[in-house]
Amino acid sequence: MKTSDMLLPLELQLWAQAEGLAAQSTPLAQLTRVAQACLPTPAGQEVVCEWRLQSHLRHPDTLKQLWLHLQARLSVAQTCQRCLSPMPLLLEVDRHFRFVADEATALAEDDDCEEDLLSPSPDLTLQSLLEDELLLAMPLIPRHDRCDSPIERAQEPDLPHPFAALAGLKLSQP
Ligand SMILES: [Zn+2]
Repeated sequence: MKTSDMLLPLELQLWAQAEGLAAQSTPLAQLTRVAQACLPTPAGQEVVCEWRLQSHLRHPDTLKQLWLHLQARLSVAQTCQRCLSPMPLLLEVDRHFRFVADEATALAEDDDCEEDLLSPSPDLTLQSLLEDELLLAMPLIPRHDRCDSPIERAQEPDLPHPFAALAGLKLSQP
C-alpha cells in the first residue's frame, strides 16, 4: 500500500490508468494551499483530510474513457467576515472527472457535459486536484449563519443603514 506522501505528487493520469482505488488520510499541513486559506491549527492538534479516489474505464461507442471519482472531507476553521471570530467549516468534495486528450478538447467539450474534464499534464497531480477541489468547496465569503460574538453585538448598532445615510445626505442639501 502506497502512502499518501508517495501518491500525492504522482501524475494523476498515470495513476488512474494503473490503479483502481485509493483511500487515505493526508495531514492538512501537507495540503499547503488549503492550509494557507484556513486559520492555523491549534497546537497539538492534527487535522487530516480523508479522501477516496477511484478510477474506472468506460467504453461508450467503443471509445475508451478514463474516469475519476474524487471524494474528500476536511474540517477547518476560517475567519467569519462579519464578526471576525473563528468559524468551523466542513469541506466536502464529491466530483466526477473525465480525462480528455488535451486542453483544447477540454475547452471545446466543457459546456456540454456535467462531469469535469481533465487533460493529461505532469502538473496534474492528486495533490493539485485535491487542493483545487477543497479550495472550491470553501464559501466565497465565510460567514456564520448567525453571529453571536460579543464584538458583533457591540458593533452592530453603530453601523448606519446605507439607505439611512443616503436619506440624511439628501435632507442636508439645499
Ligand atoms: Zn460571525
